[in-house]
Amino acid sequence: MKTIYPYLGIFFVLIFITFIFRQIVSVEWEIVNSNRASVFFAESTNRDTLVGKYLNALSNGVKIKILVVPGHEPDFGGAEYGSLKEREMNLFLAKSLAEYLKSNPRFEVSFTRDDSGWNSDLEKYFKDKWDEIATWRINKKAVMNKLVSDGKVQKVGSLYHNNAPEKVAIRLYGINKWANENKFDIILRVHFNDVPLAVRRTGDYSGFSVYVPEKQFSNANASQVLGRSVFNRLSTYGAKSNLPIESAGVIEDQDLVAVGSFNTVDGASILTEYGYIYESQYRNKEIRNALLDEYAYQTFLGVESFFGETVPASAKSDTTLLADKFSEKITSKSKPSKEALSLQIALEKLGYYPPAKEERNDCPLTGSFGPCTEKAVTAFQKENDIKGESGVFGEKTRDVLNSLIFN
Ligand SMILES: [Zn+2]
Repeated sequence: MKTIYPYLGIFFVLIFITFIFRQIVSVEWEIVNSNRASVFFAESTNRDTLVGKYLNALSNGVKIKILVVPGHEPDFGGAEYGSLKEREMNLFLAKSLAEYLKSNPRFEVSFTRDDSGWNSDLEKYFKDKWDEIATWRINKKAVMNKLVSDGKVQKVGSLYHNNAPEKVAIRLYGINKWANENKFDIILRVHFNDVPLAVRRTGDYSGFSVYVPEKQFSNANASQVLGRSVFNRLSTYGAKSNLPIESAGVIEDQDLVAVGSFNTVDGASILTEYGYIYESQYRNKEIRNALLDEYAYQTFLGVESFFGETVPASAKSDTTLLADKFSEKITSKSKPSKEALSLQIALEKLGYYPPAKEERNDCPLTGSFGPCTEKAVTAFQKENDIKGESGVFGEKTRDVLNSLIFN
């Protein structure tokens, strides 16, 4: 057994080198392409057209069609961590997102899957059109490869590779083809992240990122504006991904099937990785569900602002986490709770959370009154001249916070 260790060492060094090299290559490709707009594929959608349609939706009844796609198959695939399954988190968030979107009468909202499995229309489509989807995919790929070899479209590096099992890949392309034929204006893909295989060391990274089609694709314009809009809303309270390759926040990708690899999506399409599945705040069900609902709401607000709607600034309307006035005492001995989660976001709103010198990735919204929250409460008390409740969220602190947040 001893003799295997040197080889293991070499193996990990090789994996590390591969990862670093990939990042460098990817960054260089992006620099080369940074000023190149879509030159070849005719634009299939853009923001102005969508906004025009939105503004007329109530008078002519032609609504903005939105497809919400909880990532992965109904019963397999996606990241897993302990008993947590990404595909279930995706579905929870997607259902909540669809509810918020339905509150806007200009939107018509559909799903690819729900609690009972695939959307029945889509399932029938997979069944009836399986070979057609496979052929379409091959043709789209051939066209793209020809354009690349003719120098008309620039190949861009990507972190993602299409290594999904064949049947899963066909269904992914099937969703794209079906969405095109049913003229969906907007496609929102919901995912949670895992650490990329090349750097699989649980716990290294956290936060969200938004993937959009690479700028040469036909749906790039609208998708990128939409992606930025959703990104901005999620950034209001959330931590963006600290994985170096995701540092842009909104990341262009040419190889992700979900946003239109080989130019296979006509509508505006974005894929959001809402966080890393192993982040500690997702382990408590109540906190997890509250956070997923909040992410859904911020995504909804991002879509709204894409269409020029102003996002309300009051405490109750710019987050789901400040519904009620604070009424409980919270200390470091308290169990994780929604009230503590609300406390964190209230302190964040007022600029005390994360505490000074800390990043959001180091002090995320957790619903647990740990050192981050204690420091933030202490700073808040100092600034507001509150005495006698050192390191505790007690009555005096609560009254001041309530008056500032729910004024
Ligand atoms: Zn996923």
